[in-house]
Amino acid sequence: MKLLCFYLLLLVPPWGFYAHKWINRMAVFLQPPELFVFLKKHIHYISDHAVNPDKRRYAVVGEAERHYIDLDEYNAEEKLVLPSLTWEKAVERYTEDSLRARGIVPWQIIRMKHQLTEAFMHRDVSRIVKLCTDLGHYIADAHVPLHTTKNYNGQLTGQNGIHGLWESRLPELYLQGYDMWIGRAAYEPRIQERVWRTVFDSHAAVDSVLSFEKRLSEDKKYTIEERNGVLVKTYSSLFSAQYHKALQDQVERRMRAAIQTVADIWYTAWSDAGKPDLGDEIFEIQADTIPRAQVLKVREEN
Ligand SMILES: [Zn+2]
Repeated sequence: MKLLCFYLLLLVPPWGFYAHKWINRMAVFLQPPELFVFLKKHIHYISDHAVNPDKRRYAVVGEAERHYIDLDEYNAEEKLVLPSLTWEKAVERYTEDSLRARGIVPWQIIRMKHQLTEAFMHRDVSRIVKLCTDLGHYIADAHVPLHTTKNYNGQLTGQNGIHGLWESRLPELYLQGYDMWIGRAAYEPRIQERVWRTVFDSHAAVDSVLSFEKRLSEDKKYTIEERNGVLVKTYSSLFSAQYHKALQDQVERRMRAAIQTVADIWYTAWSDAGKPDLGDEIFEIQADTIPRAQVLKVREEN
């Protein structure tokens, strides 16, 4: 059991690069049996390739803007209207160039949900798997507060590096304590509304993400740590602890919400396609795919 736990804990990654893999992986476990059995067959692809969209970011024209939306580039009145605008209506109102310059993640998610529904209708397995994988990535990005502001790395307020502090450093230090045991996937009848609510919820957290960091930024902010044989400057444990406390589990809450939204949208696409049967192969859940919260329970009992 000790060996197993050690192996499983190695699978627990920080948000940043690895969190995408974790979120996609966890979302598979929220599915009802019929969809779970299908997705489980492809869980390694869905998890391992969850970071593909980031890899394409600088290589593919049009990719970068799919990962964010600078909501602070819209005034209060526009923000009220945005959630009701389809992509076509938004282009009419703002032009495509202007929209792309400010980021398009909500429209990207909505578009891909429809593509996923179609792929399910056609039982196009490879397309389903690829769409689930990419869609999970964009949904996860939409849950990160700093993906909804032009001040995405604190560069406009002298807080450079805060992006990595929030989405990599804090999970690295505290993810072990996150409760990742979430309910089940639920049908979402209002996808457009849900997606916009997600980015607005993320955006509402931007102020605390930035202001708490600023307030705590005094001495002992950085430390030097060894990473893979290289000395790197990073946020000190003390500073990170104070920031983590000030945020009151915000990173954990956004991560849980991301897993739930990914699971709900996959499930909704499958439901909208008429819940097609994608094969009935039944197999055991492998040890390395047990959700972490279950593992912790096992550990406690022993
Ligand atoms: Zn991304």
